[in-house]
Amino acid sequence: MARTQNIAQLQSQQIFDLLVIGGGATGCGVALDAASRGLKVALVEKNDFSEGTSSRSTKLVHGGVRYLEMAVKKLDRVQYNLVKDGLHERGLLLKNARHLSNRLSLVTPLYKWIDVPYVFAGLKFYDILSGKQNIGHSRLLSRKEALRRFPGLKADGLKAGVLYYDGQFHDARMALSLALTAEEQGAVISNHVAVIGLLKEDGQISGAELQDSLTGDSWPIKARGVINATGPFVDHIRMMDNPETPKILTASTGIHIILDKRFAPPDTGLMIPETEDGRVLFVLPWEDHAVVGTTDEPAEVSEHPLPLEAEIDYLLRHVTRYFNLKVEKSDIKAVWSGLRPLVSDPKATDTAKLARDHVIEDSEGGLLTIAGGKWTTYRKMALDTIDHALKVFHLNAPKPTCQTEQLPILGSADYDESGDKDLAKNYGFAPDIAAYLNRTYGDQAEKIAALSLEGYAARLVEHHPVIEAEVLYAARFELAERVIDVLARRTPLALLDTEASKQAAPRVLEIMAEELGWDQKRVNEETAWTEQRLNTAL
Ligand SMILES: Cc1cc2nc3c(=O)[nH]c(=O)nc-3n(C[C@H](O)[C@H](O)[C@H](O)COP(=O)(O)OP(=O)(O)OC[C@H]3O[C@@H](n4cnc5c(N)ncnc54)[C@H](O)[C@@H]3O)c2cc1C
Repeated sequence: MARTQNIAQLQSQQIFDLLVIGGGATGCGVALDAASRGLKVALVEKNDFSEGTSSRSTKLVHGGVRYLEMAVKKLDRVQYNLVKDGLHERGLLLKNARHLSNRLSLVTPLYKWIDVPYVFAGLKFYDILSGKQNIGHSRLLSRKEALRRFPGLKADGLKAGVLYYDGQFHDARMALSLALTAEEQGAVISNHVAVIGLLKEDGQISGAELQDSLTGDSWPIKARGVINATGPFVDHIRMMDNPETPKILTASTGIHIILDKRFAPPDTGLMIPETEDGRVLFVLPWEDHAVVGTTDEPAEVSEHPLPLEAEIDYLLRHVTRYFNLKVEKSDIKAVWSGLRPLVSDPKATDTAKLARDHVIEDSEGGLLTIAGGKWTTYRKMALDTIDHALKVFHLNAPKPTCQTEQLPILGSADYDESGDKDLAKNYGFAPDIAAYLNRTYGDQAEKIAALSLEGYAARLVEHHPVIEAEVLYAARFELAERVIDVLARRTPLALLDTEASKQAAPRVLEIMAEELGWDQKRVNEETAWTEQRLNTAL
């Protein structure tokens, strides 16, 4: 439904069962869980869906190999359970969002013989833990095989490798698709709408004050329960409830750089098990490019965190160390930074504080906060949150138990992996465009193809499969309200190639202005905002 209609519903509905604040992985997942149980749900996002951390992840659907190592080394049952849950959720995400995700082979290069049995045993255990949701068996690779699988790898001193499997997905479109699936299930959703205050009756939260971030209009909304799913911003909302409340969030940034596809073969990633500061680093193929990440630096909470030069140097240093290809700053096509929302549970003991993955907190004023976790486990976090919400807000859901385990995400129900052949044949798309549209939109791809026939079949920019019809589709059906919503989230262009995005921006603006009826003032504002985002931080 168009955003204006959604806003009209947010303004006219007498009372919602739940108001969910925040349209990242957590909030979109929570809204879908609640709506699919038959609750009346409103979901509001201050910027665009997934404009926060959720579009800036490493894009892995994983149990967490590193957590498993900690679980085993420290005999830590909580970490162990987190990996087990993560692997279960990995299997469900790969099924329920088939078009947006895929299985990925990963090679771990080993340069010391002593590491070979240790890493191999660890990854075998990772397979075993995934149980019925196993997506492939890890195996040892000879030195030669490791180099064949990942030809860019430095051969000097390489002893062997281990091959294992995890999932990979398109995070920004996943969050959007969760929100649109929640809408199909009856939720009222809107991006560019912020919560600017909480309403209280007799000391208890009864709703919130909303503001349209694009027009500045504000209005109250009533809800039986309010859920704070604002990631790095959870303390801001908690303080609207109680200005004295102690903070629960510590933020750290993680950046990724994009290199061209020479750095990663199309079907295999590289997992470097231990960097100079004891972290895991990935070099992964994604959308015909190579993604390298990530870092971990303490940071202030901000909406568009700037990647630091030191972080970029760190990633380049590691690529140089592990690759036989020369890499320089000028090879970087794009860079983006995300904020990790690390939370501690104020009520937990010290060890549990560190070990807990996600925290659900309900305040005396009746604010339910969900934070932490990871993208892979968004569904489990949502399930736990709504189970909790039903109790604390005394809600009677028509379907009291979670419905999302078998629920296909928009685009995946009738997705045909070989649908690109028909798209190419019936609409005359080049093979790369047909393949990209098929995997990006799944069973909705024909709709974009049909729009392309109205004179929007051209590529937005050379060497990328993104076409003009996607802009029209995004503005008409996917709630894209800003040029950068299209460049950075409806399509992957800005995350992959900053220069290409700058070239594409004027045409995106032209199509959106016509479709959404923008006046010159709005066009000028959009031009300035798009330039700012592409020249500083997404
Ligand atoms: C560098 C990095 C790499 C990662 N890689 C992976 C990975 O490979 N796999 C994995 O599983 N996990 C990964 N994660 C973790 C995962 O990305 C996060 O756990 C997840 O995206 C957090 O989602 P969220 O919805 O809680 O937060 P966010 O995505 O930040 O969403 C919160 C939203 O709330 C909105 N908001 C804030 N205030 C308001 C308000 N007042 N009104 C309305 N809306 C508001 C914000 O605009 C924002 O969009 C990674 C994280 C980082 C930082």
